[in-house]
Amino acid sequence: MTRIDDLPIRAELRGQSPYGAPQLDVPVLLNTNENPYPLPEELVARIAERVAEAARHLNRYPDRDAVELRTGLAAYLSRTAGHTVGIEQVWAANGSNEVIQQLLQTFGGPGRTAIGFEPSYSMHALISRGTGTGWLSGPRNADFTIDGAAATREIAAHRPDVVFICSPNNPTGTAVAAETVLALYEAAQAAGPSMVVVDEAYGEFSHRPSLLPLIEGRPHLVVTRTMSKAFGAAGLRLGYLAADPAVVDAVQLVRLPYHLSSVTQATALAALEHTETLLGYVQQLKSERDRLVAELGATGYDVTESDANFVQFGRFADSHAGWQAILDRGVLVRDNGVPGWLRVSAGTPAENDAFLDAARTVFKELHVNEPGTAPGTEPGIEPGIEESA
Ligand SMILES: *Cc1c(COP(=O)(O)O)cnc(C)c1O
Repeated sequence: MTRIDDLPIRAELRGQSPYGAPQLDVPVLLNTNENPYPLPEELVARIAERVAEAARHLNRYPDRDAVELRTGLAAYLSRTAGHTVGIEQVWAANGSNEVIQQLLQTFGGPGRTAIGFEPSYSMHALISRGTGTGWLSGPRNADFTIDGAAATREIAAHRPDVVFICSPNNPTGTAVAAETVLALYEAAQAAGPSMVVVDEAYGEFSHRPSLLPLIEGRPHLVVTRTMSKAFGAAGLRLGYLAADPAVVDAVQLVRLPYHLSSVTQATALAALEHTETLLGYVQQLKSERDRLVAELGATGYDVTESDANFVQFGRFADSHAGWQAILDRGVLVRDNGVPGWLRVSAGTPAENDAFLDAARTVFKELHVNEPGTAPGTEPGIEPGIEESA
């Protein structure tokens, strides 16, 4: 049998594992930060209508520039993110992962480097590797915030071409203060100049305003967003960015022609028509997230402050044993490879109740947080790729 390594693959891909959040068949799935609410029936009907219309033209290539969709996304951001943007500042692709890939193809690549502050979203490192971009792992504080001074020193020392700032951060839930983003941007311009990418996949769930207004007057700052989380449309594969129009022009150099299918564009447009309903679910999820934080804390867990639709909790002497014990009670959470910690996505109230019941039992059973049982927190460790997104 031929194995991957028998093929003449690129040297840096040898021995690597693909992204893979384990998907198990259990009653309560709270492991991938999806929105637990299915799309409302009116929206499902509208998608069917819009897709039927698109189907009448499937003999033709889609609108290569996705003009109607980008206009809709620009209007959505202008209405909800505290800053008016025009279509020339917005670009869309198949998930924000593809947006990030296009950014790295444009601004990274062989001989160039990108930096992220870990633990953070493992796809930043993985897509860097896939595009031949060197990866630098920057540190975080013990409370998982970014240490502005330390991060600035890393940027000055290594002069990366792309700086990733994930806010709210996956897997910790930590939001990054605007002042920290500005300090890192200044450092990156002094060292580079390089691009700063703020990944706001969870922006709609934050207690804080969006960082989008910071793009004004900063042509090297990019904010990425997605319909996978707040819009409850992970299956749609629609991500987007907002930045200076020159950035949108630059990614045209690497995007595949007709990368965004007519069906995807039609579906995303239908979703945008139902923004208010979908943002209503976001409000419910935010209060469920706050309830998880409060009840896990009352149980005795350490809980990381969260601005996202998930919560990091611990600290377990052995987080994998904690993950397994919760799974044994029918609830799948995420072991992100951050020693001592696990991550749970906010689900429906019933799912969260099931999780909290399991978490209370496991807390007693495993003696979580009893003196001598919790490990030291070691932020900045390189999480295992296959379990860290
Ligand atoms: C889920 C997530 C994304 C979304 O990726 P899509 O490709 O849009 O589904 C991006 N960034 C972070 C940090 C995420 O957690």
